[in-house]
Amino acid sequence: MSAEDHWEEGDVETTRAEASLLNKVLREKLVDSSLQVDVTNNDPKSPLYSIKTFEELHLRKELLDGVYAMGFNRPSKIQETALPMLLADPPHNMIAQSQSGTGKTAAFVLTMLTRVDSSLSSPQALVLAPTLELATQIGDVCTQMAKYIPGIQVAYAVRRGARPVKDEVDEQIVIGTPGTVLDWVKRGKLDPKQLRMFVLDEADVMISMQGHQDQSIRVQKMLAATCQVLLFSATYDEDVTSFAGRIVSDPIMIKLAREEESLDTIRQTYVSVRNEEDKYDALSGVYGIISIGQTIVFCKSRVASANLAKRMSDEGHAVAVLTGDMDVTQRVHVLERFRHGKERLLITTNVCARGIDIDQVSVVVNFDIPYDVINRRPDYDTYLHRIGRTGRFGKTGLAVNFVDGARSLDNLKAIEAHFGKTIDLLIPSEVAEKEDSSDW
Ligand code: ADP
Repeated sequence: MSAEDHWEEGDVETTRAEASLLNKVLREKLVDSSLQVDVTNNDPKSPLYSIKTFEELHLRKELLDGVYAMGFNRPSKIQETALPMLLADPPHNMIAQSQSGTGKTAAFVLTMLTRVDSSLSSPQALVLAPTLELATQIGDVCTQMAKYIPGIQVAYAVRRGARPVKDEVDEQIVIGTPGTVLDWVKRGKLDPKQLRMFVLDEADVMISMQGHQDQSIRVQKMLAATCQVLLFSATYDEDVTSFAGRIVSDPIMIKLAREEESLDTIRQTYVSVRNEEDKYDALSGVYGIISIGQTIVFCKSRVASANLAKRMSDEGHAVAVLTGDMDVTQRVHVLERFRHGKERLLITTNVCARGIDIDQVSVVVNFDIPYDVINRRPDYDTYLHRIGRTGRFGKTGLAVNFVDGARSLDNLKAIEAHFGKTIDLLIPSEVAEKEDSSDW
């Protein structure tokens, strides 16, 4: 049997909801986007200007103080355009699409805090989120931003074990998952007719989850005609478009072009080894010459990851391991430690290949070149996603592929041909030199 036959198909990639949550937890700052905002607005009465400062929005002082206390000095790209429209009166509905980390959550939280009346003890704004964890994240942003506004309260409509459920909801803002929100509506705890604002967050994740789509539509149908409806999504394909069309009527559409995975900022290299045993020495070698930044090593299976991690830690290296058998809380824990530099090396399987961004990753090692067992060829998509974990946000990165034997060399050549980019033999002295100038 060749090494490729051992490829573990069961180690599925992170789902959209998980990737979304992990990114939210990991993100401490904005994705600096120089991309263009594209607005489709059929309403001649809505404001078409964008703002460059939060002052221009004429927010109440307590809210502005909250925004500044969060360290937001000026609006993000999408906020510049979206906020004047979101805050206009009479309110406009909106669909906004931009990648994770561009400031969507902050934008709708700010809008909610402008619209709710803290002197009333009843729900006025509702946010639907796909999971308990994402709902909690949004609630945390609300609490932080509302720090100086007296009397603002957030209720969570999420399933949470044996926690007693109150009969009366007197919080102004309700954040929850669709099923529990519907349940609250049925029990008369929440009256959708009284809502001034309804936000559906992470629409793309929402539709990927069983039942969430229908439940969201059922909640939407009970809203008053004057309720402001907003829908946010990181991606916008056909399914999201048709779902969004059922949730939001007459929307202003805002889109921020997505930063494409690109190989241009990544130097691709390979190291020739004789066998699996050699790979280990080669990794120690690569690791030894990299002194700054962090490294992610991709293995073909959980077992391979665990074995490699054991060997590296036995040798005294501090390594992190992330595999598909861990639950979301464990993954968050591992990734948070890694992001904070507690370990400089993360060993993982494809579970980490897609959608998770850690800025300071400067090297990606393919301990095993990704292989598509069904089509019997290299897995180009996974390759792109894996090495795309480095060289992000305008930085340059280094990808190192381990090649053992003729078959994996063939796979490497196929990857070169597929992307039209050469993969050169790694020259260690070059790495050391480039690293000094922090430019591969
Ligand atoms: P999204 O909902 O698009 O994923 P978020 O609103 O969660 O984006 O923002 C991503 C990160 O950027 C968060 O850590 C948030 O605190 C921060 N952030 C949002 N808006 C601003 C801003 N105007 N200035 C600085 N940081 C911001």
